[in-house]
Amino acid sequence: MTTVMGCIADDFTGATDLAGLLARSGVRVSLRIGVPDEPPSDTSPFEVIALKSRTVPVADAVEETQRALAWLQQAGAQRFFWKYCSTFDSTAEGNIGPVAEALMQALGTDQTIYCPAFPENGRSIFMGNLFVGQQPLAESPMKDHPLTPMRDSNLMRLLAPQVTKPVGLADRLTVARGADALRDRFEALKAEGVAHVVVDAVANEDLYTIAEACRDMPLMTGGSAVAMPLPHLYKAQGLLAADAPATPKPDTPDQTIVLSGSCSAMTNAQVARYIATGAPSFRLDPLDVSKTGSNPALNWLLNQDLSTAPLIYATAEPASVKAAQAALGTDAAGKLIEDTLAKCAIAARDQGARRIIVAGGETSGAVTKALGVTQLDISTEIAPGVPWTFCTSDGHTIALTLKSGNFGAETFFTDAQAKLDAA
Ligand code: ADP
Repeated sequence: MTTVMGCIADDFTGATDLAGLLARSGVRVSLRIGVPDEPPSDTSPFEVIALKSRTVPVADAVEETQRALAWLQQAGAQRFFWKYCSTFDSTAEGNIGPVAEALMQALGTDQTIYCPAFPENGRSIFMGNLFVGQQPLAESPMKDHPLTPMRDSNLMRLLAPQVTKPVGLADRLTVARGADALRDRFEALKAEGVAHVVVDAVANEDLYTIAEACRDMPLMTGGSAVAMPLPHLYKAQGLLAADAPATPKPDTPDQTIVLSGSCSAMTNAQVARYIATGAPSFRLDPLDVSKTGSNPALNWLLNQDLSTAPLIYATAEPASVKAAQAALGTDAAGKLIEDTLAKCAIAARDQGARRIIVAGGETSGAVTKALGVTQLDISTEIAPGVPWTFCTSDGHTIALTLKSGNFGAETFFTDAQAKLDAA
């Protein structure tokens, strides 16, 4: 199937978030981890390429994005979406602006929009200022982010030093007047030479207006939410057939493994809740693993009945994480756990696990790499931003869900299993 829209995301969980929202429409969405080495085949109407370009040097981000664009064009896409974080994570150098300008140049377009709003998750934009819940971005916890501290809330001021062409605003008063008024505003700004238009959005209906006004732009940029209405709009427009391939739901046997390497507050609560249900569990302690390696966990796994969905976890409270990091070094402790969980994923698959639940962004990267997974078909959403996916590993169809730290409800691990059974 020819790809209608090609999306490029600057990190993996952002790509999953976008893919999940697009898949709410019921249309097939594929996620590729990195730019595929092979030319496009078995492509979906919506293709999302996950890069790891949020904080790499600008030139590397631009180069990777151009490769992603070329692959998506080969897949047939004529419209493109550049997805970054809903908190506009970037520095004065980039990478949001430079990547957008490189894409605009490659596509021969002289205007695009910037709309990181995600009202369902408390991200809204008013008069060009981004809010996180009720706080301006620069007063939110993002002001202390270790890599991209956000010290200004005004998107025009944040974007201007990142780009070479003028930046402008289409404000909420215009958005409230509808898609035609918004298109007129874009034209007026274009006549003034404005290439980069920040667009206000405070509620979901604003996103529909914006998506409708922008649906014919070769390039849109933003958070995931403004892309959500596009599948329906493309269907209404006839760009996407009414019977376009649907989200796949293959049957997978209920042999399940849960692997948790996230130490976020929410994952700690999820692990505790899951253990309280009586699920069998094995705790990985980095200090033990540094002495005994992965074998105790692998031996424990061998004796488990996978239909009981056992859990292997390194999830721990901050004090315990700090102690392990002090003894082993932060990176070494993290790597020991990631390697062990990756080995457990392979062992579980070889033991027949066809449903794999992973908690932790970095942990997910380690597990997908170990399983040799490069393409995920997005399926049912378990929690906002966390879908079930289907992939192939060693010739087996596997249902895989990858949850980053703070996502999901406390009952996430049982919710995930129930969702797949109900699908
Ligand atoms: P999140 O999505 O919550 O950030 P990640 O998987 O991205 O989760 O990051 C968690 C990191 O912490 C991983 O590198 C993991 O290996 C490491 N880790 C997990 N458990 C422990 C622990 N008990 N002590 C030290 N590091 C740990």
